[in-house]
Amino acid sequence: MPNLYDSLRAGFPADRSKPFASELDGAVTTYADVEARSARLANRLGELGVRPGDRVAVQTPKSVDMLMLYLACLRAGAVFLPLNTAYTAGELDYFMRDASPALFVCAPDAVGTIAPLAKAAGVARVETMGVGGAGTLIEGARGCAEDFATLAMEDDDLAAILYTSGTTGRSKGAMLSHGNLASNCFNLCDYWHFTADDVLLHALPIFHTHGLFVATNIVLSSGAQMIFLPAFDAAQVLAALPRATAMMGVPTFYIRLLKEPAFTRDLVAHMRLFISGSAPLSADIHREFSQLTGHAILERYGMTETNMNTSNPYDGDRIAGTVGHPLPGVSIRIADPETGRVLPQGEIGVIEIQGPNVFKGYWRMPEKTAEEFRDGYFISGDLGLIDARGYVSIVGRAKDLIISGGYNIYPAEVETAIDELPQVRESAVIGVPHPDMGEGVVAVVVPMEPGFADGAAITAALADRLARFKMPRRVVFVHELPKNGMGKVQKTVLREQLGDSFKPV
Ligand code: ATP
Repeated sequence: MPNLYDSLRAGFPADRSKPFASELDGAVTTYADVEARSARLANRLGELGVRPGDRVAVQTPKSVDMLMLYLACLRAGAVFLPLNTAYTAGELDYFMRDASPALFVCAPDAVGTIAPLAKAAGVARVETMGVGGAGTLIEGARGCAEDFATLAMEDDDLAAILYTSGTTGRSKGAMLSHGNLASNCFNLCDYWHFTADDVLLHALPIFHTHGLFVATNIVLSSGAQMIFLPAFDAAQVLAALPRATAMMGVPTFYIRLLKEPAFTRDLVAHMRLFISGSAPLSADIHREFSQLTGHAILERYGMTETNMNTSNPYDGDRIAGTVGHPLPGVSIRIADPETGRVLPQGEIGVIEIQGPNVFKGYWRMPEKTAEEFRDGYFISGDLGLIDARGYVSIVGRAKDLIISGGYNIYPAEVETAIDELPQVRESAVIGVPHPDMGEGVVAVVVPMEPGFADGAAITAALADRLARFKMPRRVVFVHELPKNGMGKVQKTVLREQLGDSFKPV
């Protein structure tokens, strides 16, 4: 397999004047621009002393230039290292020391903070990149040649390092190869029937697998187009939907759209695909969405370390509450978390994954990497099961499993029961230390009507839906749940807030 860039380029349209990305301000990046701008940046990286294998860390606002820099790194054999825009100086210090990038690219207004940090961490160069062509990196690349001999790569050569979001502990740098990303991209293009006629609505962040690799690589390799929005903004999404054919989102996007009176069946009648992932999509939202629009959201399952693992089918039944089947070439098994014994169909255990999508290990953490693999399978840390039809369901994370009075309680099961109550918009269930039970179940609930705070009504309504041992011992009402940039509930934050104030209801 060649350099991933060349594999993607093979799908570029013959007419390079076709748009690849259109932005709100009317800016259009054509496929000819993609080739020229990525070449200029690849040349500039060389001038700045970046060599094959060097890391290029990037913490900038979402921009098409950032995508061009990603492609430039692929072409030059450098390792692209995007960082969440929410990371603070303390976190960046950790990433700089851990990854030792040859170049750090930051927003123009952040250089005052980043430059001293970078110097202290031994990072050789800092450049800036803003939106709309601003910043020293883009200025410096202007005079560079518009062609570049893309380096030949092996499948196992590193393309990117993505730090895990740290929902369950300290961030680790997942090493993804050209082969990992290529196999996933071509698999998904086929599976989701992407063609040059598609226009993808892109409102996701691009420091994460989903918005960066899945969305960008699929569009490029099918010669399609994207409507490139800076972030999810309901009004902007509503305005862009009439021009789109497909949308990739996280559950929060769909929850927000459903609240918009202008989000109607007519508005999306022409769309062919709505995809959701990165966090569980509740069966309620799936149902509400399909009742309103006639579209069944296609839910898929992936992670930083593996890209995409499973997807509901394009043509077959998209079953709410499941993440579908393993993608072609991906093998998934369910194992006993303690013993590693492979469990029979229908039993809950830890999800283990093998396939060309699975990463090369954690950056500079060989021991941690070895711990996370069993017989060539990556131990995902997610708990789930495979049903008789081969659909995978996720019931939670091993680290979120609640053990109360010796019973295993899967938060997702309790959350689903709570979310079905008419008084509830959404909920998160956590275990907190309990004097007698080891852990007790606490439900954190966002009510449908602001001001509703009747915990007893919630537990009464759950009485015939949940076994006694699964019943929340405390119900806490909040305006919103703490979520990360991908709309994922941050249970560590909830546990910190509630952990030492356990009072049974
Ligand atoms: P960390 O690994 O540091 O804890 P993280 O797991 O949040 O961070 P990501 O790789 O961004 O990092 O997220 C992957 C996780 O997201 C999966 O392991 C799974 O728990 C969850 N996830 C992804 N897609 C789905 C889905 N469709 N349904 C339920 N959970 C999902």
